Amino acid sequence: MVSCYRSGPIERDPASAFHAKNQLDGFLRKNGFTIIGDTFEILKSCGRPQTTYGPEMKKLRNQGRFSEYSKKELLLAHSLNAVRKTDFVVSRPAPEASGGTTSETVVMWLRTIPKLVIIGPHSEGLLDNNSTFMIKMLSDNPSLIFNTERQAIDFISDHIEVFKRGRSAIHNLIVKLRKLNPYINDRPKPCYSKLFDGRTVIIQGQPGAGKDTQGRMLQDLCGFKFFGSGYELRRLSSRFPVLAESLGKGNLAPEVIIKFLFTQSLIKLEKFEPIVFSGTPKKLGEAQALMDMLELLSREPLMIVIDISEELAKERILLRRVCDDCEISFCDEKLINHPICPECGGSLKIRAENTTQEAIDKIFNWYKTDVEEVIRYFENLGLVVHIDGNRGKEEIFNDILEILKR
Ligand SMILES: [Zn+2]
Repeated sequence: MVSCYRSGPIERDPASAFHAKNQLDGFLRKNGFTIIGDTFEILKSCGRPQTTYGPEMKKLRNQGRFSEYSKKELLLAHSLNAVRKTDFVVSRPAPEASGGTTSETVVMWLRTIPKLVIIGPHSEGLLDNNSTFMIKMLSDNPSLIFNTERQAIDFISDHIEVFKRGRSAIHNLIVKLRKLNPYINDRPKPCYSKLFDGRTVIIQGQPGAGKDTQGRMLQDLCGFKFFGSGYELRRLSSRFPVLAESLGKGNLAPEVIIKFLFTQSLIKLEKFEPIVFSGTPKKLGEAQALMDMLELLSREPLMIVIDISEELAKERILLRRVCDDCEISFCDEKLINHPICPECGGSLKIRAENTTQEAIDKIFNWYKTDVEEVIRYFENLGLVVHIDGNRGKEEIFNDILEILKR
């Protein structure tokens, strides 16, 4: 029987598994693989569900009672046993979790087991220093890096006969592929320029202007860190249902949360790392807080406003479908009846805040009242460039690159 040890936020923290559709388990079971290493299940079977185990262990660690902590570290022993029996590992490092979590530590110890590492559609797994360290460790081993769960599934599908032969066959396959292509685990940044080092870019514009699209292109193609308040908030929402409900009605997030998210993301940045803020700040108070933070870090932001007509904005919102997996949004009539992501094959959905006319109107109103005030604030500081957004995404992106290289 061929078994797979599945590690990552799916098992550890459902809230951080925002992207994870976990199609993987279904796929593996359908093909006759056994899944081991589900720590939620292990804890339940020991009569110590995550809800009691987690807080208990945290308390011991915070109080420095490490010998007691080690004695109660059920997961480490169980994971170690499980991983020893496995034929291959699928690991998904979470950007916001510490990379040194139990299962991932275990994975590092057992270097000869073949591994598939899913770093998220936009390399989110690489955002955190711990995760970066872990990915480096993993990529030294017989492992392959994938952007999305779907790519990992496709890879197993394409080599299903090899996977069914077990550990050494999978090991040999990966070693062979890595020999054929030594750069297979590199993430290409084809538009990277030294001029982007340490840059702070804010992209603003009406709903439907393509802010996230451009921000994600800066992330994927130029090595920018991406901060989208929508993305960050959706990740938080699973922990705060009240927040999720309010956002779904087209309300803005509480300022205190946005300020916290700004601080959290900026404080971790290295001096040379460029960052792009997409569609945020949205309120004057947030803008001032962001400027205070940037001043402390000696960073001067540049706001790029993508101008589009209100008619086009409204038209795009009605057509907009967002991919569940890679978060890229599309405005294409053809995709309405065939809601499959052209980029990654994920399923396309309408955003909650775009489903009712009332919520859409609210978002447009916020733009006229609050966001335009934010843009004026940056304009008064001489930090704004406007570009014409009534064009295709490639043309807009080229403009942005030109502006950043000036
Ligand atoms: Zn997609």
